[in-house]
Amino acid sequence: MPGEGPWDAGIMLIGEAPGFNEDQQGRPFVGAAGQLLTELLQMAGLERGSVYITNVVKCRPPNNRDPMPDEVRTCADEFLKKQVKILRPRLVVSLGRISAAELLGRPVSMSREHGRIVDCEYAGVRFKLFLSYHPAAGLYGAGVRKQLEEDFRKLGSVLRLLSAW
Ligand code: URA
Repeated sequence: MPGEGPWDAGIMLIGEAPGFNEDQQGRPFVGAAGQLLTELLQMAGLERGSVYITNVVKCRPPNNRDPMPDEVRTCADEFLKKQVKILRPRLVVSLGRISAAELLGRPVSMSREHGRIVDCEYAGVRFKLFLSYHPAAGLYGAGVRKQLEEDFRKLGSVLRLLSAW
């Protein structure tokens, strides 16, 4: 499941790994978390079809477990770094700590860092990185869902500022 969206989008969203439905359909975020992601993007003033969406890990881990560190390493080196080099995004949104940790090269606590925008260099490409929770986390807790909604509204404000540059 490589990802989908326009290659010149300038905005890239990076999740963790495909789930069952994504693996079957070969498209990212098509299940319940994907439906929430589409709504969150609308809150940021973005159409889903206008951004590039992918995952760090490209295949579904067995039994939907978290990807192992060596799986993250292999997929990131083999695919994600090449995608970032080709797309050269201006802004990346990391959906969850696995994606944020890979991009920043350090562990990330999303409860402490969500909603932050930081300068990031990954695969030799510099971009602004917006940190947020994985949308699936918003399906299980009303608190996280509210924070996701606040984060994506803030993302909308950041985008309006960036486009005014
Ligand atoms: N979770 C992810 O991280 N990615 C998907 O594509 C779907 C669910």
